[in-house]
Amino acid sequence: MISTSTLYVLATPIGNLRDISLRALDILAAVDVIAAEDTRTTAHLLTHYSIIKKMMAVHQHNERAMAKKIANLLARGSSVALVTDAGTPGISDPGTILVKLVREEGYTIVPIPGANAAVCALSAAGIVAPHFLFYGFLPASAGPRRRELEGLKSQPYTLVFYETPHRILECVDDLAQVMGGHRQLVIARELTKLFETIHTCTLDNAPAWLQADTNRQKGEFVLLLAGAEVQKGKGLSDQTLFTLKLLLRELPLKQAVGIATGVTGESKNVLYAQALMLKEEADKKK
Ligand code: SAM
Repeated sequence: MISTSTLYVLATPIGNLRDISLRALDILAAVDVIAAEDTRTTAHLLTHYSIIKKMMAVHQHNERAMAKKIANLLARGSSVALVTDAGTPGISDPGTILVKLVREEGYTIVPIPGANAAVCALSAAGIVAPHFLFYGFLPASAGPRRRELEGLKSQPYTLVFYETPHRILECVDDLAQVMGGHRQLVIARELTKLFETIHTCTLDNAPAWLQADTNRQKGEFVLLLAGAEVQKGKGLSDQTLFTLKLLLRELPLKQAVGIATGVTGESKNVLYAQALMLKEEADKKK
């Protein structure tokens, strides 16, 4: 069941300890060693499932150095499971550097899928849109955060952010100011836990909702922001729309958008969003 010289990248629960697969438990029980972001947090999970296992700490400050140690263990035939405090390793969590280095050494890496806060929130949000863009944590300070949001403002995709309780209010304030108050926000808080809350509102109303009860500002958050609305031709001249349609008839979408951007001087993001919409409309008619 367990392979030698293999690194298992294993997802753990994001709250409810029962949100772990049977396969993940089998592997945790069978590997030689568990590389954990915080050994105390993982010890709690292991105790819950009566698993006793040797652990080593692998976190953002020692990931590179530990990659060498783990490669040495794999070279001796050992099997290792990589876990973080919650959810899927490498998703706004340590793991990517270690996985890259171990992969470069030629060892087998096996993902063991499971919980992820972003996907969990999306699954219950009721946002009817085919695409989303996972961003993770925005910059902690206001200036860089607002600049980053400016760059994301015209993306037509649902934007997925992670946020901590001590920054949730200022983050939502900035979202409202930069992205426009009419956009829909889903605040997914404490998923899979006792005080799980999934609240939908406009960005304008979000700060007041959070402030109405200080408990609403506690815990862990996923924020889902509806994508920028691209209305038919909104803000684009007839000439620009005509050019884009013409190019889309002859060329792949990316290429058409690239040329249309050069020819018209319009924003690439706006043209890309418009092109996606035109393509979806055309696909529906087929
Ligand atoms: N690797 C994890 C994953 O797969 O989702 C994410 C780890 S990241 C360090 C932690 C952040 O994920 C939190 O600050 C919060 O934004 C989000 N998060 C984790 N668990 C959550 C939960 N139960 N409810 C809502 N958000 C959660």
